[in-house]
Amino acid sequence: MNEFDRKTGGPVMADGIDILQVNVGLRCNQSCAHCHLSCSPVRSETMSLETMERVIDLADQIKPQLVDITGGSPEFNVHLREFVLKLKADGYSIQVRTNLSAMMEPGLTDYPEFFAENEIGLVASMPCYLEENVSKMRGSQCFSRSVSVLRHLNELGYGVKESLTLDLVFNPAVGPNLPPSQAALEKDYKREMQTRYGIVFNRLLTITNVPIGRYLDELKANGQDRQYMELLTDSFNPATVDGLMCRHQVNIGWDGTLYDCDFNQALGLPVNHGAPGRIEDFDLKQMVHRQVVTGRHCFACTAGAGSSCGGAIEK
Ligand code: SF4
Ligand code: SF4
Repeated sequence: MNEFDRKTGGPVMADGIDILQVNVGLRCNQSCAHCHLSCSPVRSETMSLETMERVIDLADQIKPQLVDITGGSPEFNVHLREFVLKLKADGYSIQVRTNLSAMMEPGLTDYPEFFAENEIGLVASMPCYLEENVSKMRGSQCFSRSVSVLRHLNELGYGVKESLTLDLVFNPAVGPNLPPSQAALEKDYKREMQTRYGIVFNRLLTITNVPIGRYLDELKANGQDRQYMELLTDSFNPATVDGLMCRHQVNIGWDGTLYDCDFNQALGLPVNHGAPGRIEDFDLKQMVHRQVVTGRHCFACTAGAGSSCGGAIEK
């Protein structure tokens, strides 16, 4: 048993599949410092239509409460609209993780209307309500582009109508930092986004940076990697273990590989311990109660209030 499994009283075991998370490709118009998948405009990995068809068959077996589509920027996958429409026709709740600015790229500017017409929930990166901080993490112009898209989404009813949910995601700046209280920060965000930019949204999700990919490179470059890992292990909170997202989801990579989460995907660690690691070999019985593949990076999910793609684990 590894250090993380010992700490959790493990091994960590899955307990059902509520969420089917699908990564449709690694291309992104941004190259954020905290990106665990090291996405950028030069990444060409993208999910094919054939693999998407397999995902739809898989969804039919799993019957998830939510299909969570992520990337990269999902909008860059040329099959995204078709994929979403097929999932929608089958009756699934769907959410897309967007960096917002992708929807200002040529050929992608009608995505806000497409998402609104199909009542797709949106989860949007917005690491701070101050332009200076966002520019440091995500590059210049990202902030103004994101604000412009958020205003348009509000005009379409996002964050206003019950059927059009708009959640924002906060990541701490690079360094040995855990997110602050999600509830307290959400109040600040709601006030500041409204008064500064006239923007409304539903929930703020705080996500702890996982020390892998480009984020780890940045920590190393600053000589902060050991300090950050110590912070994560010292902040272990046993109350977060039941809510670990890997216990309640399956993640599918752009090429059809099955993972316990997007972080394991970034590390190239498919599901294991006897469960098949490819979409064509999927076995529901084996997957539902599989043993999760863990490692030291998992301490990012159990530090402080805990962290998942749905925000803090302890609300
Ligand atoms: S964090 Fe998101 S927006 Fe930034 S490079 Fe990665 S996928 Fe793109
Ligand atoms: S990194 Fe992935 S496998 Fe590890 S605890 Fe977090 S969700 Fe689970």
